[in-house]
Amino acid sequence: MFGTLKPQAPDKILALMGEFKADTRQGKIDLGVGVYKDPTGLTPVMRAVREAEKRIWDAETTKTYTTLIGEPGYLSGMSRMVLADALDTDRTAALSTVGGTGAIRQALELARIGNPDLTVHVSDPTWPNHVSILNFMGLPTATYRYFDDATRGGDFEGMKADLARARKGDLVLLHGCCHNPTGANLTLDQWRQVSEILDRTGAVPFVDLAYQGFGDGLDEDAAGTRLVVGNAPEALVAASCSKNFGIYRERAGVLLAKVADPAQRDLAQGTMSFLNRQTYSFPPDHGARIVMTILEDAALTADWKAELEEVRLGMLGLRQQLAAELRELTGSDRFDFLEHHRGMFSRLGATPAQVQKIKDENAIYMVGDSRLNIAGLNRDSVPILARAIVEAGV
Ligand code: PMP
Repeated sequence: MFGTLKPQAPDKILALMGEFKADTRQGKIDLGVGVYKDPTGLTPVMRAVREAEKRIWDAETTKTYTTLIGEPGYLSGMSRMVLADALDTDRTAALSTVGGTGAIRQALELARIGNPDLTVHVSDPTWPNHVSILNFMGLPTATYRYFDDATRGGDFEGMKADLARARKGDLVLLHGCCHNPTGANLTLDQWRQVSEILDRTGAVPFVDLAYQGFGDGLDEDAAGTRLVVGNAPEALVAASCSKNFGIYRERAGVLLAKVADPAQRDLAQGTMSFLNRQTYSFPPDHGARIVMTILEDAALTADWKAELEEVRLGMLGLRQQLAAELRELTGSDRFDFLEHHRGMFSRLGATPAQVQKIKDENAIYMVGDSRLNIAGLNRDSVPILARAIVEAGV
């Protein structure tokens, strides 16, 4: 049987990580993989996470199984953090998953059981793993326009026109904030218009919220999600704790499913529990327990929020510095989009040849579509990148 296997296309971002590691040049700069790094290049364990782990270690008396859907305190804490006033507990089922990716997968499995004929609408471009998972599952997909290559801002007119073609029961996959890979985001008024289109078409919003707290703030980054989920009769949200709690390897995520009628909640919850059982049985506990411990303790929550805010403002400062350097070097404001984008990523708009040149000549690594991870920079490397961008003729 194994002789029939075909090589899988390598994940381009993970392949780039390997290439960077093997590069022996001094001063190489990694703007590839989507992981937050502090100015020293470290992906730190957050203070509140460390403290929560100590408390768990002291208090934990057993490692026996928890429940198939995960720890109730984690689910309620995350539901409130994501949806706040838009949370309708009678109509919302929640599931602890293996990271945000696990939540995405379970959301798609759930939606497919509910509507075997659905098409999933994804932004062009989107996180490549969205497309890969959808293709692997054999789900029909459609793309909607999202990004304007000329301005490096959103193409909202294109997006609206394409979303209007969604059918009742289709899923519309939206990035809750900090769009990956472009960095261009919807305004709240645009979210409102998207919500109206969803209402008109009967398509179901499916929000991927992987960077809450990395853009404009914890509440600000969830405002669009809350708006569409609050308005929609049915909705799905896949949230990740990887970035905002910095617990990437612990694999903590949550799937929220809003149903049309409270009478359907238990059915949805039961199906979600079944999906965990069929896939990996019990979800991992450690990351979820860290998050729960933080969210259930006011002092830990305050400290976590303060550190997350430092992280967010640090990235914003780097954006502003990079835009300023490029304004200075080019004598134009054509790179100002870098400071308008939010989150870890920006699509620079360089050609693959220019991306290659920047890598070859400066040992600066970014993804082939010219997505750069702002968090891979620091005050000293920003001017080096700015110069490389100009020299490559971007
Ligand atoms: N969605 C998007 C858009 C992402 O960028 C990521 C992480 N790269 C995820 C979901 C999933 O993150 P994880 O599974 O690591 O929690």
